[in-house]
Amino acid sequence: MKISEFQKVIEDTYGEKDRKRGVESTFLWFSEEVGELARAINGRTTRENLRHEFADVLAWLTTLASIANIDLQEVAEERYGKGCPRCKAIPCMCDEIKQRAYRCG
Ligand SMILES: [Zn+2]
Repeated sequence: MKISEFQKVIEDTYGEKDRKRGVESTFLWFSEEVGELARAINGRTTRENLRHEFADVLAWLTTLASIANIDLQEVAEERYGKGCPRCKAIPCMCDEIKQRAYRCG
């Protein structure tokens, strides 16, 4: 499933409710889910629960993007599709470039 296909499914499933709720309130729900993911990462939990929390955070982020009229597929490709947005490398070479600059400078 592509990001755009996932966004469409989430939009079809929750879009109407989430638009009525608005960006601010939906952001609060998203934050709460991020908190649950943090607890799952830090605490003792089952692999299944961890998977569940990752999926929930992704779903809330996705619905938030839809309400804000953000095409996630588009922004993900624009920003990260060619690697690190700063150094343009895959994998990111920002630390190595910084170290080289210190050595030369
Ligand atoms: Zn980088």
